[in-house]
Amino acid sequence: MESIGLDEKQSLYARPCDCLADSADSLALQVDVTLGECSGVTSLAKILWAAPWSLWGAGVGVVGLLTGGEVRRCGRIVEFWGGFLPLFLRYFPFIAGSPAATFGHVVLGRSKRHLDACRAHQMIHVSQYECWGPLFVPMYLIWWFVLWCCGKHPYYDNPFEREAHDATR
Ligand SMILES: [Zn+2]
Repeated sequence: MESIGLDEKQSLYARPCDCLADSADSLALQVDVTLGECSGVTSLAKILWAAPWSLWGAGVGVVGLLTGGEVRRCGRIVEFWGGFLPLFLRYFPFIAGSPAATFGHVVLGRSKRHLDACRAHQMIHVSQYECWGPLFVPMYLIWWFVLWCCGKHPYYDNPFEREAHDATR
């Protein structure tokens, strides 16, 4: 099969910031489908399984709060934005340049607007954390390294990102 060029991939798997251009209606529909509520033993197990990364995300989020950021609960996730978080998302390795990043059941965003626009994409990552738990970040980074070694794009070719983009296209 003929491989597609990077430019074409970038349009197929646009970074979440590109979703700011999407219509509010289609995003609202996606969020309704994916947001969900947490209840029951299975959901509690998923929250506990993803908890190590949720705690890391919450720790960064609290630093955001202490520097003027804000927080809200949104379905089964907690979102932090503002304060030092735009700086964190701009420079932290592997997520540098992202409008938002998910750690377990915590989503960090540059602003409330970025979180609203990218929620559907981030909710796919939440589901991935619920599946992989503490192994999610190591698996993500292993894929990143393998793809980079093979000359592929570590972000756009990463199966975790492809799933998130495919599900929210
Ligand atoms: Zn992503």
